[in-house]
Amino acid sequence: MDCVALSPASTHFLTEGKFTCFADWCFVHKARLNLFPLNANKIWKDPQEKLCRRCGRWDETLPPVINHCPMHSDAWQKWHNAILKRNQAAVSFKEKVLSVNQVVDGGLRPDLVAEVGGELFILDVTIPFENRRPAFNQARLRKVEKYRPLINFFKARGWNKVQIIPIIVGSLGAWDLENDGFLRKVATKSYLNLLRKLCVSDCIRWSRDIYIQHLTGVQQYGRNTVEPAQIIGVQEQSIENPASQDGSPASSKKSSVCSEPLSEDCSPQSMPTLPPPKVWGP
Ligand SMILES: [Zn+2]
Repeated sequence: MDCVALSPASTHFLTEGKFTCFADWCFVHKARLNLFPLNANKIWKDPQEKLCRRCGRWDETLPPVINHCPMHSDAWQKWHNAILKRNQAAVSFKEKVLSVNQVVDGGLRPDLVAEVGGELFILDVTIPFENRRPAFNQARLRKVEKYRPLINFFKARGWNKVQIIPIIVGSLGAWDLENDGFLRKVATKSYLNLLRKLCVSDCIRWSRDIYIQHLTGVQQYGRNTVEPAQIIGVQEQSIENPASQDGSPASSKKSSVCSEPLSEDCSPQSMPTLPPPKVWGP
Protein backbone atom coordinates (compact mmCIF):
# COMPACT_ATOMS: atom_id res chain seq x y z
CA MET A 1 0.00 0.00 0.00
CA ASP A 2 3.04 2.22 0.43
CA CYS A 3 3.59 2.24 -3.33
CA VAL A 4 -0.13 2.43 -4.09
CA ALA A 5 -0.26 5.68 -2.13
CA LEU A 6 2.25 7.30 -4.45
CA SER A 7 -0.33 8.20 -7.09
CA PRO A 8 -4.13 8.55 -7.17
CA ALA A 9 -4.03 6.67 -10.48
CA SER A 10 -3.18 3.47 -8.60
CA THR A 11 -6.68 3.48 -7.12
CA HIS A 12 -8.54 5.19 -9.96
CA PHE A 13 -10.99 2.28 -10.29
CA LEU A 14 -12.28 2.71 -6.73
CA THR A 15 -14.30 5.78 -7.54
CA GLU A 16 -14.73 5.53 -11.31
CA GLY A 17 -14.83 1.78 -11.89
CA LYS A 18 -13.19 2.32 -15.29
CA PHE A 19 -11.06 -0.20 -17.18
CA THR A 20 -11.24 -2.74 -14.37
CA CYS A 21 -13.72 -5.63 -14.44
CA PHE A 22 -15.41 -6.79 -11.27
CA ALA A 23 -13.22 -9.88 -10.95
CA ASP A 24 -10.08 -7.74 -11.11
CA TRP A 25 -11.63 -5.29 -8.68
CA CYS A 26 -12.24 -8.11 -6.18
CA PHE A 27 -8.75 -9.53 -6.75
CA VAL A 28 -6.74 -6.38 -6.24
CA HIS A 29 -8.03 -5.52 -2.79
CA LYS A 30 -7.18 -8.92 -1.38
CA ALA A 31 -3.87 -8.93 -3.22
CA ARG A 32 -2.80 -5.55 -1.89
CA LEU A 33 -3.71 -6.64 1.64
CA ASN A 34 -2.03 -10.04 1.18
CA LEU A 35 -5.17 -11.94 2.14
CA PHE A 36 -4.92 -14.86 -0.27
CA PRO A 37 -4.75 -18.40 1.13
CA LEU A 38 -1.40 -19.22 -0.44
CA ASN A 39 0.68 -21.98 1.08
CA ALA A 40 3.16 -19.74 2.90
CA ASN A 41 0.34 -17.70 4.42
CA LYS A 42 -0.82 -20.80 6.35
CA ILE A 43 1.43 -20.44 9.36
CA TRP A 44 0.42 -23.77 10.84
CA LYS A 45 1.86 -25.74 7.93
CA ASP A 46 5.25 -27.44 7.86
CA PRO A 47 7.99 -25.55 5.98
CA GLN A 48 7.91 -28.09 3.15
CA GLU A 49 4.18 -27.56 2.65
CA LYS A 50 4.69 -23.80 2.32
CA LEU A 51 6.61 -24.10 -0.92
CA CYS A 52 5.21 -23.04 -4.29
CA ARG A 53 2.72 -25.63 -5.54
CA ARG A 54 4.00 -25.26 -9.11
CA CYS A 55 7.78 -25.05 -8.92
CA GLY A 56 8.63 -25.71 -5.27
CA ARG A 57 11.45 -23.17 -5.35
CA TRP A 58 10.20 -20.56 -2.93
CA ASP A 59 7.69 -20.14 -0.16
CA GLU A 60 4.40 -19.55 -1.88
CA THR A 61 3.58 -15.92 -1.19
CA LEU A 62 2.11 -13.47 -3.68
CA PRO A 63 5.35 -11.80 -4.94
CA PRO A 64 6.97 -15.07 -6.11
CA VAL A 65 3.68 -16.33 -7.55
CA ILE A 66 3.22 -13.24 -9.70
CA ASN A 67 6.78 -12.12 -10.43
CA HIS A 68 9.07 -15.14 -10.09
CA CYS A 69 7.39 -18.52 -10.60
CA PRO A 70 8.84 -19.74 -13.92
CA MET A 71 5.58 -21.32 -15.09
CA HIS A 72 4.31 -17.79 -15.79
CA SER A 73 7.18 -16.55 -17.96
CA ASP A 74 4.97 -16.49 -21.06
CA ALA A 75 2.46 -14.27 -19.30
CA TRP A 76 5.24 -11.94 -18.09
CA GLN A 77 6.33 -11.36 -21.68
CA LYS A 78 2.83 -10.53 -22.86
CA TRP A 79 2.21 -8.39 -19.80
CA HIS A 80 5.41 -6.42 -20.33
CA ASN A 81 4.59 -5.98 -24.01
CA ALA A 82 1.13 -4.66 -23.15
CA ILE A 83 2.55 -1.94 -20.91
CA LEU A 84 5.27 -1.14 -23.44
CA LYS A 85 2.71 -0.74 -26.22
CA ARG A 86 0.72 1.69 -24.12
CA ASN A 87 3.79 3.85 -23.60
CA GLN A 88 4.97 3.43 -27.18
CA ALA A 89 1.61 4.73 -28.38
CA ALA A 90 1.99 7.79 -26.15
CA VAL A 91 5.52 8.54 -27.37
CA SER A 92 4.93 7.93 -31.06
CA PHE A 93 1.85 10.15 -31.20
CA LYS A 94 3.95 13.34 -31.33
CA GLU A 95 7.56 12.21 -31.17
CA LYS A 96 9.87 9.95 -33.13
CA VAL A 97 10.42 6.35 -32.04
CA LEU A 98 13.82 5.27 -33.35
CA SER A 99 13.81 1.65 -32.30
CA VAL A 100 11.72 -0.83 -30.37
CA ASN A 101 13.43 -3.72 -28.65
CA GLN A 102 16.51 -3.67 -30.82
CA VAL A 103 20.03 -4.50 -29.77
CA VAL A 104 21.93 -1.23 -29.51
CA ASP A 105 25.41 -1.93 -28.23
CA GLY A 106 27.13 -4.59 -26.17
CA GLY A 107 24.05 -6.79 -26.23
CA LEU A 108 21.94 -4.14 -24.50
CA ARG A 109 18.42 -4.05 -25.83
CA PRO A 110 16.29 -1.24 -24.40
CA ASP A 111 12.56 -1.42 -24.97
CA LEU A 112 12.36 1.87 -26.77
CA VAL A 113 14.71 4.55 -28.11
CA ALA A 114 13.00 7.81 -29.00
CA GLU A 115 13.88 11.31 -30.08
CA VAL A 116 11.90 13.84 -28.06
CA GLY A 117 12.51 17.55 -28.53
CA GLY A 118 15.92 16.98 -30.08
CA GLU A 119 17.09 14.81 -27.17
CA LEU A 120 17.49 11.06 -27.08
CA PHE A 121 15.58 9.01 -24.54
CA ILE A 122 16.14 5.35 -23.75
CA LEU A 123 12.98 3.85 -22.26
CA ASP A 124 12.65 0.53 -20.50
CA VAL A 125 9.53 -0.86 -18.85
CA THR A 126 9.81 -2.82 -15.63
CA ILE A 127 7.11 -4.29 -13.42
CA PRO A 128 8.41 -4.98 -9.93
CA PHE A 129 6.27 -6.20 -7.07
CA GLU A 130 5.22 -3.42 -4.70
CA ASN A 131 7.56 -4.21 -1.82
CA ARG A 132 7.42 -0.61 -0.60
CA ARG A 133 9.03 2.39 -2.24
CA PRO A 134 12.61 1.10 -2.03
CA ALA A 135 11.59 -1.69 -4.43
CA PHE A 136 10.61 0.92 -7.00
CA ASN A 137 13.76 2.94 -6.38
CA GLN A 138 15.95 -0.15 -6.72
CA ALA A 139 14.19 -1.20 -9.91
CA ARG A 140 14.77 2.28 -11.33
CA LEU A 141 18.45 2.27 -10.34
CA ARG A 142 18.97 -1.20 -11.84
CA LYS A 143 17.62 -0.03 -15.18
CA VAL A 144 19.71 3.14 -15.16
CA GLU A 145 22.86 1.20 -14.32
CA LYS A 146 22.09 -1.43 -16.94
CA TYR A 147 21.73 1.06 -19.78
CA ARG A 148 24.30 3.62 -18.61
CA PRO A 149 26.88 2.44 -21.19
CA LEU A 150 24.49 3.48 -23.95
CA ILE A 151 24.80 7.15 -22.98
CA ASN A 152 28.38 7.35 -24.23
CA PHE A 153 27.46 5.18 -27.22
CA PHE A 154 24.86 7.66 -28.41
CA LYS A 155 26.90 10.74 -27.50
CA ALA A 156 29.70 9.40 -29.67
CA ARG A 157 27.17 9.37 -32.51
CA GLY A 158 26.23 13.00 -32.23
CA TRP A 159 23.53 13.17 -29.58
CA ASN A 160 24.19 15.94 -27.07
CA LYS A 161 21.67 14.84 -24.48
CA VAL A 162 20.83 11.22 -23.72
CA GLN A 163 18.63 10.12 -20.83
CA ILE A 164 17.59 6.74 -19.49
CA ILE A 165 13.94 6.60 -18.48
CA PRO A 166 12.69 3.53 -16.60
CA ILE A 167 8.90 3.22 -16.75
CA ILE A 168 7.79 1.48 -13.58
CA VAL A 169 4.36 0.09 -12.79
CA GLY A 170 3.88 -2.24 -9.85
CA SER A 171 2.56 -5.76 -10.37
CA LEU A 172 -0.56 -4.85 -8.44
CA GLY A 173 -1.07 -1.61 -10.31
CA ALA A 174 0.91 0.96 -8.35
CA TRP A 175 1.90 3.82 -10.61
CA ASP A 176 5.32 5.34 -9.97
CA LEU A 177 5.11 9.14 -10.09
CA GLU A 178 8.68 9.28 -11.37
CA ASN A 179 7.30 8.09 -14.73
CA ASP A 180 5.44 11.34 -15.17
CA GLY A 181 8.50 13.53 -15.61
CA PHE A 182 9.19 12.05 -19.04
CA LEU A 183 5.63 11.23 -20.06
CA ARG A 184 4.58 14.87 -19.60
CA LYS A 185 6.97 15.70 -22.43
CA VAL A 186 5.17 13.41 -24.87
CA ALA A 187 1.56 13.31 -23.73
CA THR A 188 -1.09 15.87 -22.99
CA LYS A 189 -2.31 16.12 -19.42
CA SER A 190 -5.56 14.35 -20.24
CA TYR A 191 -3.87 11.56 -22.20
CA LEU A 192 -1.28 11.01 -19.47
CA ASN A 193 -4.15 10.76 -17.02
CA LEU A 194 -5.70 8.06 -19.21
CA LEU A 195 -2.39 6.28 -19.81
CA ARG A 196 -1.76 5.93 -16.09
CA LYS A 197 -5.18 4.38 -15.55
CA LEU A 198 -4.81 1.97 -18.47
CA CYS A 199 -1.40 0.77 -17.28
CA VAL A 200 -2.69 0.33 -13.73
CA SER A 201 -5.71 -1.67 -14.89
CA ASP A 202 -3.57 -3.74 -17.28
CA CYS A 203 -1.26 -4.73 -14.44
CA ILE A 204 -4.14 -5.71 -12.18
CA ARG A 205 -5.66 -7.82 -14.95
CA TRP A 206 -2.40 -9.63 -15.71
CA SER A 207 -1.70 -10.23 -12.02
CA ARG A 208 -5.10 -11.77 -11.58
CA ASP A 209 -4.72 -13.90 -14.68
CA ILE A 210 -1.41 -15.23 -13.36
CA TYR A 211 -2.79 -15.81 -9.88
CA ILE A 212 -5.82 -17.72 -11.14
CA GLN A 213 -3.67 -19.79 -13.49
CA HIS A 214 -1.33 -20.52 -10.60
CA LEU A 215 -4.17 -21.91 -8.50
CA THR A 216 -6.16 -23.70 -11.18
CA GLY A 217 -3.60 -24.50 -13.86
CA VAL A 218 -6.00 -23.02 -16.40
CA GLN A 219 -4.51 -20.32 -18.61
CA GLN A 220 -6.61 -17.17 -18.41
CA TYR A 221 -5.41 -15.44 -21.56
CA GLY A 222 -5.50 -16.59 -25.19
CA ARG A 223 -2.65 -18.64 -26.61
CA ASN A 224 -1.92 -15.98 -29.21
CA THR A 225 -2.60 -13.01 -26.99
CA VAL A 226 -0.01 -10.30 -27.53
CA GLU A 227 -1.71 -7.87 -25.24
CA PRO A 228 -4.91 -7.76 -23.24
CA ALA A 229 -8.05 -7.11 -25.24
CA GLN A 230 -8.63 -3.44 -25.96
CA ILE A 231 -10.78 -1.96 -23.28
CA ILE A 232 -14.17 -1.11 -24.70
CA GLY A 233 -14.73 2.59 -25.10
CA VAL A 234 -11.06 3.54 -25.24
CA GLN A 235 -9.46 4.41 -28.55
CA GLU A 236 -5.75 4.95 -28.34
CA GLN A 237 -3.62 6.71 -30.90
CA SER A 238 -2.26 4.52 -33.64
CA ILE A 239 1.42 3.68 -33.33
CA GLU A 240 3.45 5.17 -36.09
CA ASN A 241 6.88 3.67 -35.88
CA PRO A 242 9.50 5.48 -37.90
CA ALA A 243 12.42 3.33 -36.75
CA SER A 244 15.83 4.44 -37.81
CA GLN A 245 18.63 2.06 -38.58
CA ASP A 246 21.27 4.40 -37.14
CA GLY A 247 21.60 6.31 -33.89
CA SER A 248 22.72 9.62 -35.37
CA PRO A 249 20.39 12.59 -35.39
CA ALA A 250 20.83 13.07 -39.13
CA SER A 251 19.90 9.55 -40.08
CA SER A 252 17.00 9.54 -37.65
CA LYS A 253 15.14 11.65 -40.16
CA LYS A 254 14.83 8.58 -42.35
CA SER A 255 11.88 6.42 -41.53
CA SER A 256 11.36 2.72 -41.90
CA VAL A 257 8.98 0.26 -40.36
CA CYS A 258 10.21 -1.43 -37.23
CA SER A 259 8.92 -4.97 -37.13
CA GLU A 260 11.06 -6.31 -34.32
CA PRO A 261 9.25 -8.26 -31.62
CA LEU A 262 8.72 -6.48 -28.36
CA SER A 263 10.86 -7.17 -25.33
CA GLU A 264 10.63 -10.45 -23.48
CA ASP A 265 11.85 -8.80 -20.30
CA CYS A 266 9.12 -8.56 -17.72
CA SER A 267 10.77 -8.33 -14.39
CA PRO A 268 14.35 -7.69 -13.40
CA GLN A 269 15.16 -11.37 -13.18
CA SER A 270 14.04 -12.38 -16.69
CA MET A 271 16.19 -11.78 -19.73
CA PRO A 272 15.58 -12.09 -23.46
CA THR A 273 16.99 -15.29 -24.86
CA LEU A 274 17.12 -14.67 -28.60
CA PRO A 275 18.16 -11.13 -29.54
CA PRO A 276 17.26 -9.75 -32.96
CA PRO A 277 19.98 -8.68 -35.38
CA LYS A 278 22.24 -5.89 -34.21
CA VAL A 279 21.43 -2.64 -35.92
CA TRP A 280 22.98 0.09 -33.79
CA GLY A 281 26.57 -1.08 -33.72
CA PRO A 282 29.45 0.88 -35.18
ZN1 LIG B 1 6.57 -21.43 -8.36
